[in-house]
Parts: sequence; structure tokens; C-alpha cells
Amino acid sequence: MESRIDLCPLSQAQTQNFIDLLVLESRRCEMNEKLNDQSLDTVCSSLAYAMGIRSSDVAAEPSRKLNTYIDESLAGRKVDRVFMYNPDAIGQWIYRKYSSLLRKAIERTELEVPFCTVMPSVTPVCFGTMYTGAQPEVHGIKKYEKPVIKIDSIFDSLIRQGKKPVIIAETDCSMSKIFLERDMDYFIYDTIEEVNAKAIEVILEDKYDFIAVYNGNYDSVMHKHGPESIEALSELRVNAEIYAMFDTLISEHWKKHNSLVGFAMDHGCHEIDGNCGSHGLDMPQDLNIVHLYKTYPAV
Ligand SMILES: [Zn+2]
Repeated sequence: MESRIDLCPLSQAQTQNFIDLLVLESRRCEMNEKLNDQSLDTVCSSLAYAMGIRSSDVAAEPSRKLNTYIDESLAGRKVDRVFMYNPDAIGQWIYRKYSSLLRKAIERTELEVPFCTVMPSVTPVCFGTMYTGAQPEVHGIKKYEKPVIKIDSIFDSLIRQGKKPVIIAETDCSMSKIFLERDMDYFIYDTIEEVNAKAIEVILEDKYDFIAVYNGNYDSVMHKHGPESIEALSELRVNAEIYAMFDTLISEHWKKHNSLVGFAMDHGCHEIDGNCGSHGLDMPQDLNIVHLYKTYPAV
């Protein structure tokens, strides 16, 4: 005898309820996520290790995972070029959930390193830690403010070793301010287009040993429209495509160098009332991030 199941169509209200439940469940999973073990303060010493220079005395121990990758991928050699792309506020949960939008960055990477950023999880505090290797109470930025950091940073280590670092960033952003007053070059522009055009020029010019490029587009749109808004997710894809372009240029124009390339954000983000976005709290969505790295051996 033929069995038959009658499918009762869901009403619009029932469908909406079902979707709401799914969204709630997904948020619950994100909230229950554990914090990553490794602190963002390990990045600075790993960058110094990659270049074979002495990290600052205040920097935490390096990331073993990143150091091992550098050793293995370059057969023990050191890099003479580092390119750090710093997109703002791309949290681990966004990275995992919308990995298809970041495909162009992900497919160009060889190493994924989960980090737990520092508190409060706001831009100057986190970049302060990323590039000094020190916790906020040591580097001195403990809230959303942008003074010049006085303690030793990766930029100071580089300068001491006779290397040339450069920061390329948007006007008034944290990266354009907190590492000023060093004997190095800074290129600060009002628009992200100018920032990225300068980064292209600098890659082709090939005279800097360490390049940090800041892009705040996802962060600013996420604050206004929410982390998962179509507007913010479009910016996420823009970040991946810009990074892919830099990566291609580096692979083609830095062939004589051993290079390390990184897609390295400062903190994550979460949704708040009114479909807006925020960060700064002691929660996995704001604290868990994933950096992407790849080395290019000289050919
Ligand atoms: Zn930020």
C-alpha cells in the first residue's frame, strides 16, 4: 500500500518564527564559543622572529604556531619583507560564518592562527598590543583613545636594526596616530582608495622592509548597519579582494625576497539593538579573531 505524507505548508508567521529560532540558536552558539588560548600579544615577537631581529623587551613570547610555520615554510631562513594587511573588526565568528565572502583571502593563505585579542577590545588598545607585544596596562592605551605609544614596538625594533618600516592608514584612525614619532615613514590619507593606491605603489617600489596597511571599511559600516548587514558583508568581501590584489602583487614583484604576508585584524564585533554593531566587550564575538599568514620564499 502506498504511503503518503501530507505536507502542511507553513504559514508566513510560522516560517518567520522558524527563522527567528534558527537565528537565536546560531547566536547562542556564537555566545557559548570559548575564548581562544593564544593572546594577540604573541604576534609582535613572531614578526620579529620572522625577520631575525630582536623583539622588544616588553613583548610577550612569540606564537609557537606562527614561528613553526615560518621555520618550516622557509626551511629555516628569515624573511626580509613583511606585509601586514590590517582590516578592522573582522571577528572569528564572521570569518567562519561568511568564509565564502573571504574566499579570495583564504585561498591565498597557508596558515590560520586563532588569537584572543585584549580588553577592552577596541582598535587602539588592540593594535597597541599587536605591534608592541605588550598588554594594555604596559603599552598604556586602556580605553578608546589614541595617544602615541611610548614603549618599544616592532617599529622601534626594526629601526634599531636599520630596517625601514612604513604605516599606511586613514586619517584619524588609530594606526595613523599611536605609532607616530618614530624615525620612519607614514602615509596618511582621507580615503581608503588613496591608502590602498599608496600600498600598491609601495609594494612595487620595494624599498620598505615592513609595511602595515590599515583598512577600516568593514568596521565603520558594521557599526552603522550591523555585522551581518548586506552593507557590512559587502565590505568584508572588499577586504578579501584588496588583500588578494596585494598578495598577487607581492608574489610577482618581490620574487627576490623571502616575504611574510598577513591578513591581521585587531578585534571582532557583535550586533547590538537597532541593527547596529559594536565591540569592546569581554565576549567571544569581540575577542576571538583569526589571522591568516603566508610566506613567499625567494626564487
Ligand atoms: Zn578596530
